[in-house]
Amino acid sequence: MSTVALITGAASGIGAAVTRRLSAGGAKCVLVDLDGEGAERLAKEVGGVALAADVSTEEASRQAVDLAAGAYGRLDLVHLNAGISSGVDLNAFDAARYRKAVGVNVDGVVYGVAAALPLLRRSGGGAIVVTASLAGLVGYDGDPIYTMTKHAVVGLVRALAPPLVKEHIRISAVCPGFTDTPLVADARELFVSAGFPLLEADEVAAAVESAFYSEETGSLFVIQPGKQPVPYRYAG
Ligand code: NAD
Repeated sequence: MSTVALITGAASGIGAAVTRRLSAGGAKCVLVDLDGEGAERLAKEVGGVALAADVSTEEASRQAVDLAAGAYGRLDLVHLNAGISSGVDLNAFDAARYRKAVGVNVDGVVYGVAAALPLLRRSGGGAIVVTASLAGLVGYDGDPIYTMTKHAVVGLVRALAPPLVKEHIRISAVCPGFTDTPLVADARELFVSAGFPLLEADEVAAAVESAFYSEETGSLFVIQPGKQPVPYRYAG
C-alpha cells in the first residue's frame, strides 16, 4: 500500500520540491495550487493528481481531501505549505491585502488541518507538516503581517501536537530562512550581491520529509543553509 500525501502550494518552490521528493520515495501525491496548470503539469510528471484551488476557502481543503479519498482511498501525509508575502504597509493600510495574507497563510492552514483530520484518522494516523518560517519565531520587520501569520500557525502546531499524538497524528512545522524560490525573486539579487546564502527549495523539502517521520511531534524545525534542521525550543 502506497503512502498518500497531500501538498498545498505544490506547483512551485518548496511545495514542488516536496512533491518530487515524496513521489520519488513512492508516495502518491495530491497537488493543490492556485496555479492549476502548474499543478497539473507536475502531477503528470510525478504520476499524481492535481486540484486547482484557493486554500483560503474552506471548500478547497474539503475538495482536496475528497480527491485523496477518491483517487487513493487514504491519506498519510499532509504538507500545508501554500503561502504568500503580505506586502501590507501599516502606514498605508490596505485591508484587502491584509485579508488575503491571513486567508492564505492562516485560514489555509486551519482549513487544511480541519479537512484532513477525519481521513488521517480513518487511515490509522499520519503526519502534518506546516511550512511556517523563521519569521514565525522572530520578529521579521520586513513584513510584519507575514510575520504575524507565521507566528499564528506556529501557535496552532504547538497547541495541537499533544492531543493529536494520542490519535497517532504528528504535527510539526518547518521554519526556513530565505529560500531561493519565486516568492523571494524580487529580493534575490540583493541577497546574492550581499553574499547572503539562500536555502535551496530541496534543502527545505528534505527537512519537511524528515519532519514527517520525526517522533518530535510539535517541533519547529529551524532550517538554515548548509546546516541540519534544528528543533527549536522555547525558553521556559
Ligand atoms: P512559491 O511562491 O515558489 O510557491 C508558493 C505556491 O503557493 C505557488 O505555487 C502559489 O501558486 C501557491 N499559492 C499561493 N497562494 C495560494 C492559494 N491561495 N491557494 C493555493 N495555492 C496558493 O513560494 P515558496 O517559497 O515555495 O513558499 C512556500 C511556503 O514557504 C510559503 O508558506 C512561504 O511563506 C514559506 N516560506 C518561504 C520562504 C522563502 O524564503 N521562499 C522562507 C520561509 C518560509
